[in-house]
Amino acid sequence: MKTIKVSMRFSPDIVTKPLTYHLIKDYDLEVNILNANVGLNKIGQLVADITGEEAKIEEGLKFLKEQGVDIRLFTRSIIWQEEGCVHCGACTAVCPTEALTMDKNSWSLTFNKEKCVVCELCVRTCPIKVMSVSI
Ligand code: SF4
Ligand code: SF4
Repeated sequence: MKTIKVSMRFSPDIVTKPLTYHLIKDYDLEVNILNANVGLNKIGQLVADITGEEAKIEEGLKFLKEQGVDIRLFTRSIIWQEEGCVHCGACTAVCPTEALTMDKNSWSLTFNKEKCVVCELCVRTCPIKVMSVSI
């Protein structure tokens, strides 16, 4: 089994097609949607973790491409230098997926990497540059 993180961009003419349903049913894949921006007659975007047999993942991605979905695999990740963080919370205000949140008891930052879509907004926002992107 393997898990990949992928961004899928849908043009307005295919945005209402049940493509994730086919990934699950026809390719036996688990699709965990991390972020969705989908509307009728608009370009749609999904960020998801896809888990399954490697060959099935390949087939599923091929199917999506054939349907006209623009696919981007996440090869980079966010690195948080926790020891330098001053827990100001500025990054939580820009994080679109709530990967970055403040613990309400300790008022310290928590980072849930599973939810991160590597949008890099926190990298640009952090005043002391303790967020960076892996190369
Ligand atoms: S903006 Fe930077 S210093 Fe402030 S909580 Fe986020 S990572 Fe820490
Ligand atoms: S890159 Fe930063 S702001 Fe973007 S989703 Fe990941 S943690 Fe949140």
